[in-house]
Amino acid sequence: SAKKQGKNCFQFYTREINESERIRKKLYKELKKALKENQFVLYFQPQLNIHTLEVTGVEALIRWDHPERGILSPMEFIPFAEESGLISAIDEWVLGEACRQRADWKKMGFSPFSMSVNLSARQFYNHSLVDDVQNLLKELELAPNDLTLEMTEGTLMTDKEKTINVLKRLGKTGVSTSLDDFGTGYSSLSYLKFLPINKLKIDRSFMSDITEDVRDAAILEAIFTLAQRLKLDVIVEGVETMEQLNYLKETSCGEAQGYFFSRPLPVSEIEGFFKRA
Ligand code: C2E
Ligand code: MG
Ligand code: MG
Ligand code: MG
Repeated sequence: SAKKQGKNCFQFYTREINESERIRKKLYKELKKALKENQFVLYFQPQLNIHTLEVTGVEALIRWDHPERGILSPMEFIPFAEESGLISAIDEWVLGEACRQRADWKKMGFSPFSMSVNLSARQFYNHSLVDDVQNLLKELELAPNDLTLEMTEGTLMTDKEKTINVLKRLGKTGVSTSLDDFGTGYSSLSYLKFLPINKLKIDRSFMSDITEDVRDAAILEAIFTLAQRLKLDVIVEGVETMEQLNYLKETSCGEAQGYFFSRPLPVSEIEGFFKRA
């Protein structure tokens, strides 16, 4: 009967909920353990000046070196970490580790470049962010331009007044700020003029068909012009081919990042990209 079926459905449904609840609890425990036992690692992807091909920066990208499952992508645990609140502890580790690594490279005498760190919304709106950044710079003897903070549009759209306030305070520390995945969020272009940021980081979706789709090219060129007028630097992510790079060389885009240059690499391998000062 329908009633019986309904009941079965319900049982099936609760079983599924229990199952996903069980998986979430397990993941929560594993992530806490990962924090305690230092299972996270940073990989680094170079950012290059399009014309000189000099390394201008590296982006720190977290990986989880899971004891059974090997190296896991951030997509497999960052969203859950955000939901469950564990992101704060992870973010804190990433910021500290990225700064320590930057300081190590400075001591090794490499030419200057900036370390880009991704901030979650929670970290961006955390009251201690600006102090934390300043303390790290001081403690590690880093210059403000050794560090760039990347935030997505989604993060910056949460609360306009708060956002501008945090960005102004960050601006005073001298570190650079970059609007990540630009073009995929829902921010209006007019919102940009209120944001005291330094750089637009164009989402890689614009790059994928650039040499075939004239509409993508039209949008990109409009963004480049806008950025120029607003005096914002521009970096494009997701550059995978020589054609894409050649296209960018004809525009006012300054920097690029993508598999064409390098995938994200562990510490020991990324150092091959750096020059001695
Ligand atoms: P994102 O900040 O936009 O980072 C760029 C992502 O694009 C990276 O993926 C990178 O490996 C990938 N990528 C780079 N070049 C290319 C390319 O040419 N083609 C393609 N198809 N992909 C490319 P990844 O490392 O898996 O990171 C994914 C996202 O996870 C990041 O996107 C960022 O939002 C988040 N994430 C990574 N590390 C952290 C972190 O330490 N903290 C926080 N809160 N989020 C992080
Ligand atoms: Mg990023
Ligand atoms: Mg991005
Ligand atoms: Mg992205």
